Amino acid sequence: MNDGLKSLEDKVINIRNDFPILSREINGHNLSYLDNAASSQKPNAVLDRMSSIYSNSYSNVHRGVHTLSMESTLAYEEVRKTVAEFIKAPNHEEIIYTKGTTDSINLFCQGWAKNNLKKGDKVVLSEVEHHANLVPWFMLRDAIGIVIEYIPIGEDFLLDMNVAEQVIDEQTKIVSISHISNSLGTIVPLKEIIEIAHKNDAIVLVDSAQSIPHQRIDVSSLDIDVLVFSAHKMCGPTGVGILWGKESILNQMEPITGGGDMISSVTFDNANWNEIPYRFEAGTPNIVGVIGLGTAIDYLESVNFSELSQFSHYLSEYARQELSAIKGVQVLGPNDAKMRSSLFSFVIDDIHPHDVAQVLDGQGIAIRAGHHCAQPTLNKFGFSSTARASFYLYNSLEDTKQLVNGVRSVISRFT
Ligand code: PMP
Repeated sequence: MNDGLKSLEDKVINIRNDFPILSREINGHNLSYLDNAASSQKPNAVLDRMSSIYSNSYSNVHRGVHTLSMESTLAYEEVRKTVAEFIKAPNHEEIIYTKGTTDSINLFCQGWAKNNLKKGDKVVLSEVEHHANLVPWFMLRDAIGIVIEYIPIGEDFLLDMNVAEQVIDEQTKIVSISHISNSLGTIVPLKEIIEIAHKNDAIVLVDSAQSIPHQRIDVSSLDIDVLVFSAHKMCGPTGVGILWGKESILNQMEPITGGGDMISSVTFDNANWNEIPYRFEAGTPNIVGVIGLGTAIDYLESVNFSELSQFSHYLSEYARQELSAIKGVQVLGPNDAKMRSSLFSFVIDDIHPHDVAQVLDGQGIAIRAGHHCAQPTLNKFGFSSTARASFYLYNSLEDTKQLVNGVRSVISRFT
């Protein structure tokens, strides 16, 4: 480990104290939490802020003139500015609160795509998409007859950009793509894809559920059209996500949920929609969750999260290397470390991934086993299930060694 990494390790050791759950023992062992791609743990800053809102300032938002309602509304609305600044969006009114990435993509499909696409229009996805960026498009295809095509993934676990050049053509209206594959860890060449899409006048939705927890996503400099992500993977609470879109696109989007707050006026016959973003946020929202997301972003900024992600990447690479050297272990993912994120899938000869995860749990190690909501991607490589280790800014070298030793013990147990 060089000096730079050593100093990052010192920071990581420090910030571990911010996450109370990390001091838990699981089955008599220190917890090694390596299921961060599924959901991250929460720092005290977020837990305390949410608790403090409930204890001191809680009320419904947008509805009252009393002090508590004004305090809640202020805190809740401030988060739009925090998010806008975080992703370098030009206007905080372009920030729409949703329930998460899945909800954001469904809103976009039903609210924008359904009203702006017609039969035969093409939507391009990739072969590394999470089910959340597949199924909503299938629903739309079945409803209005769009055509879905894919940028394929090769044997090298990279998207085939030669095919991307051909698949994205003038019939293409939308390219909807994950920045980082949640099952393989492949980093998708976003800039190139955006350029090809824009050359063909297609708009680009980026699913940054797996990238924004680790790196700054600047929607303006990347010229992204729509960005979606979930709070719970970036130190925030569950049940909150973001759909950001360029104002011109949001202005063409119809609400898909009707109710309170999303209207400017209602009669017994009709309703007029409220302005953006409110017209997409019917009903009482996840007030405290949204405020928790704001605090999570402040926390990530305060610890310089994108710098710390270099350490998570180092740990992931270390684990890959150690596991790849074990006979019978196959680690999936691209050969080039620059195209790999801080997560990887692996399989062990003749041992089911669920058994791997279960034995590791007995040693306090939390990893994921299954299809990771990416069945078509895994099937393409001949797997129905893999084990997946995913690292985040509070993971230590100890966690990583615990995983490597754990996998060795799984093998000796089953052979
Ligand atoms: N896209 C990707 C790439 C993901 O990893 C996930 C979560 N695993 C999702 C979408 C869905 O996120 P959520 O469950 O928070 O809606």
